Amino acid sequence: MPQPWDLIIVGAGPAGSAAALSALREKPDARVLILDRAPLGRDKVCGDGIAPHAVRELAALGLDVVRPEENVSTVRLYGPSGADAGAVTSSPGYVIPRRQFDERLLSAAMDAGAFFEVRKVTSLESLDAPVVIGADGSNSTVRRLIGQPANHGRALAVAIRGYAPTPPGARELTIRWDSQRLGGLCYAWSFPVADGTTNVGYGLSSAAHDHSRAYLERRLGELLPEFDLAGVELTGHTLPLSVRRPSPYSGHVLLVGDAASLINPFTGEGIYSAIASGALAGRSAFRDAPGPTYAKALAARFGRQHRQTTALYRIIDSPRVLDTVIRAARANSRMFDRLLDVGLGDAAFTLGDFARFGRYAF
Ligand SMILES: Cc1cc2nc3c(=O)[nH]c(=O)nc-3n(C[C@H](O)[C@H](O)[C@H](O)COP(=O)(O)OP(=O)(O)OC[C@H]3O[C@@H](n4cnc5c(N)ncnc54)[C@H](O)[C@@H]3O)c2cc1C
Repeated sequence: MPQPWDLIIVGAGPAGSAAALSALREKPDARVLILDRAPLGRDKVCGDGIAPHAVRELAALGLDVVRPEENVSTVRLYGPSGADAGAVTSSPGYVIPRRQFDERLLSAAMDAGAFFEVRKVTSLESLDAPVVIGADGSNSTVRRLIGQPANHGRALAVAIRGYAPTPPGARELTIRWDSQRLGGLCYAWSFPVADGTTNVGYGLSSAAHDHSRAYLERRLGELLPEFDLAGVELTGHTLPLSVRRPSPYSGHVLLVGDAASLINPFTGEGIYSAIASGALAGRSAFRDAPGPTYAKALAARFGRQHRQTTALYRIIDSPRVLDTVIRAARANSRMFDRLLDVGLGDAAFTLGDFARFGRYAF
């Protein structure tokens, strides 16, 4: 192992691998070490939905890690009152189990020259490098070590997921908002995998009065009655939403992905923002002032969306608002695409978008 390290990255999820790839594009001979407590090929509890925005971000890093059979081009949304909007998206998304997706990304980072070591990080003193990137996910140790508290209440969601047999002909991404338990992020999803199973799950805000495992399992079954969940192993995890974010850096330590609470509060999308923030941090790592450079780049990319989603998060409890948005998406494919850009990418709604939504309010 070539020491001293120029950059140490804690966490080998999409954020960590993207950070390594981008740092090595910036400085190909840099000595970059990625640490993860789990070996290559670990699983991550997730919906496995890879947005087209994430695929484009990876392409900008020179990566093509998706396969045609993993593509799912139809997205269908169901509002709280059952109003549904379906459309064939113009830029298709993918469903790839995270065990495979993350392994492809980490392998690409190692091919580019990064070193990987299985090590659980418990202190900052053990990380001897001029720049450290904390990409260690939702319960980030690095974030805690730099004194930033974790998300809680409405800024944290909890979700369960499992793999059920795909019913015949069910090859679309569906999201069903829950009419019973509104309280921030609150919906069931079904995302078909190429292997004949479907990733099914249900998530809601941890501020909800009942967010017990029993409740989540019951609502999952009620909202997705077409799936046979008997014998399906359901696993839970937390989602730190971008409505409450830590400072993106402290001294020489930069936070990316879930460690920086970058999950979209409307949809639970976090892979695109993990890759995008990782890439920005990696690009900033060898500049004069890595922390401020990264913070500026992150604000330029996500600042407008973060301000807007934080303000609007208060009103997504309203079934009327959700139904209006879904009615607009059903009637107008441009509005559907805007919805996907805000929910899965880094876009924010414009005044024109709000005016167009207004037409579908009743
Ligand atoms: C149920 C559920 C469904 C979701 N569905 C989707 C979806 O369909 N699409 C989407 O875009 N997003 C989804 N998300 C969000 C998405 O999973 C995350 O946003 C994404 O994984 C963040 O990537 P990351 O690289 O920041 O963190 P992670 O993918 O969590 O990677 C963090 C890595 O750090 C390692 N690590 C942790 N602690 C330490 C330590 N102390 N020392 C060393 N290593 C450590 C872990 O082993 C892990 O490999 C979902 C989340 C959940 C919980």
